[in-house]
This record gives sequence, structure tokens and C-alpha cells, in this order.
Amino acid sequence: MLTWLSKHVFFPLWEMKDGARRQQYLKELAISQWQDPDALHRRQWQRLRQIVQYAYRNCPYYAQCFQSIGFDGDLKDWHDFRRLPLLSKQEIRNSGNELLSRQYARADLVEARTGGSTGTALTIFADNRCQQMRNAAAMRSDQWAGWDIGMKVAAIWGNPPIANTLKKKLRNFLLDHFIYLDTININETSVKYFIEQWHKERPQVLFGHSHSIFILATFLERLGVETLRPHGIISTSMQLLDPERLVIERVFGCRVINRYGCEEVSLIACECEKHEGLHLNIDHVVVEFLRDDGTVAKPGEEANIVVTELINHGMPLIRYRVGDMGVSSDRKCSCGRGLPVMERVTGRRADFLKRHDGSLVAGVSLVERTLTAIPGIEQMQLVQDRIDLVKVIIVKDTRFDDTAEQWLRSELQLIFGDGTDIHLSYVAALDQTSSGKYRFSICNV
Ligand SMILES: [Zn+2]
Repeated sequence: MLTWLSKHVFFPLWEMKDGARRQQYLKELAISQWQDPDALHRRQWQRLRQIVQYAYRNCPYYAQCFQSIGFDGDLKDWHDFRRLPLLSKQEIRNSGNELLSRQYARADLVEARTGGSTGTALTIFADNRCQQMRNAAAMRSDQWAGWDIGMKVAAIWGNPPIANTLKKKLRNFLLDHFIYLDTININETSVKYFIEQWHKERPQVLFGHSHSIFILATFLERLGVETLRPHGIISTSMQLLDPERLVIERVFGCRVINRYGCEEVSLIACECEKHEGLHLNIDHVVVEFLRDDGTVAKPGEEANIVVTELINHGMPLIRYRVGDMGVSSDRKCSCGRGLPVMERVTGRRADFLKRHDGSLVAGVSLVERTLTAIPGIEQMQLVQDRIDLVKVIIVKDTRFDDTAEQWLRSELQLIFGDGTDIHLSYVAALDQTSSGKYRFSICNV
């Protein structure tokens, strides 16, 4: 009943009060996902032409940058688009207000500080309409996990927001129905309290960073708790490791929907209920997969992910190098949605470790040869501060013995080669970043 009231009464009322149009955008997106790919691509192209022209006319940064390559802001075809320079995090940081549109007062834009976990902090602005469209896109993909407006959600997060004002408390009661577990302080007491809350509130959807959900799952398994049964699980960290996914799905008896986004442009891609790759949010973004030399990668090839957001007129980001690596696809998902899919996200560029000869090792590719193969490793993190040294921090359980240690050492030595020392150390728990995210590998070289 409360769910029904939330969806049909409270939510529309709240929308009216805030002047928000999220529900309208959500309706449009709910329809567009089933349109045929040609129609979706045609509209994506129109929006791309529009935002590029808009950026050229209204943002000093793009005016200058496009002029310098002799481009007049009017895109003729995709080839034309690929001539435009890429935008790096460094350039965003150095650009000051030059990336902002002259059409908006800075005070009217929504400000977000991002990138705390990557070490490159950025301030990004978005106009209000864009912010609402982003929310709607996230809601559409929430629905793929079985969520609907008004449903109760269990969120597992670092630093959960506390409803401190009356307005927020009221909103929380009427609409959001959240219960939280703060992953910064995860221990037996907090998990037991969370389980209690769960049984009282009965959330239908579980939502959080993949690794945080994984940590909760291992706790529940240890405590022998099998009664937390959501209808859907949404994992928002881009790197849902396969071994972690297996544990989560086993403990909660429910498939995980993997979602990929970044704070700068919000939702980029998300799995649907078929789990056959991640549907690209081409209503709102253009996603390119580029080799290091800037040429377009083939489907199946690991490449740099580059995004252009089509809806942010406050601060357009055109050909922005997110810093993640991923694999494109030419397959179609059997769900029948017209949105194309990408194969997978393989990790942050910064999470690729380096061999002595400078070649790269994807952190995530090590997982299968170590974490899943060798008994007794509960969690693991690789940190590289020097080219000739990889530090391995391990959380072990009782099955970990000398043979396992030898195995791990020789496996890593084989991958990195003779020029690299492997140093193992053991801790009770791994450090997480302030946002609660976990990184399997960190390269500071
Ligand atoms: Zn699908």
C-alpha cells in the first residue's frame, strides 16, 4: 500500500513541488529503450550535432579548441566528430570556467566534486534539466533490477547520508524507504543491526558498490544468515569481479545487475535482466572505444572508454577520456531492447600494473589466476609504487598455508617476470577509499 501511494501520489506531488520532470523523462526513456537501434542512433546523432554546435557557440574552451583545428561547430558525419580533440581530466582541471556555458549563471548549476578515489579531483557542473534526466536514466536501469518508485531499498555505501532535516526525514519516510549499511565501519555489530533492520523493513532491492555487497555477503555466510532475500541487486561499482559476483549471488539467492557509470556523466551502461552485456545509455551519451593511438577499436578488443554527454548544457563534456578501459561488442541482447551493448568494463586505466619492460597487466585479469584459484585468500590488493616491486596485501582465512603462499608467489612472479620483486603482507581487513570503494590494484608508477 505504501509503495503504491508513494508511486502514484507522493512521488508526483513531490515532483510538482520541486518543479521536477523526472517522471516525464522516465516515461520517455521507458518507451525509447524498445525502439529499434536505427531510430535510437538517428536521435543520438541529432543530439550530438546539437550539443557540439551549442558548445562551440557558448563555451569559450570549445570555441578556441575547435577553431584551432579549423572546425566551425557543424558536424557533417562521424568522421568529422572523430577529428575533435579528446578531453582529459587534466584539461578539465586547468580550464577554470572556460568549459561552462555562458547561458547559465554558475549559481544555477548543480556542482559535484568527483574523483576522490582516483586521486584526480575534479569539479563538474550540470544544469538542472540534465540532472533530472540523469536521475531518470538511473531509475530506468533500476527498473531492470525489479525496482519501482516507492519500493524499499537497502543501500550499502560508505558514509551513508543521515536524514538530518525534517524535510529529508519526511521525504525518506514517504519516498525513499532506505535502510543503510555503512561499509566504512563494517563489523559484526553493524551487520547484525543491518539484518535486524532488514527483517523489519523487508527491502526488495539491494544497492551498493560491488565490493561492499561482497563484504556483506561473506559476513552473512560466516554468520549462517540465509534470510536476506531481495528481488534485485544493483552493483554500481564498475568492476564487478566474477568471483565476488558468484559469492553475492549465492548468499542472496538473486542475480546481480551490473552497472557502469562515472560521477562526471552519471550512467553510461547497465545490464538488463538477461545479463548479456551492459546496455549503453545512448539516449544520453555517445560511448567510444579507442586504442591508445586514437583509432577505433574492434568489438572484443580492450580499449579506452571515451564519452560525450548529450544532455549537459551547463558544462558540456565532449570526447572525455574517463580513464576506464572496456570492451565493445557487436552482439545483440536477447531482451529485445534497441540499446546496443558493450561486453564489459575491465578496469581503471590507473589500475593496470606495469611490468619491468613497461607493458601493462590488467589487475582484474590476475584475479582468476590467484584469488579464485588459490585456497584461503579471502581478499587481496596489489599496490605498485615502484616499477620493480609489487606489494600484495592479503586477508587470509584458515585454509591459507605455506603451499598456498608459494603458489601465489610463483603465479605472480610468472606474470610480472624476473625484473619485479613480489612482497606479500597480511592484514585483518583492507583499506577502502573514503567513498567505500575497493580497488583490486593500485598503480602509482
Ligand atoms: Zn538486454
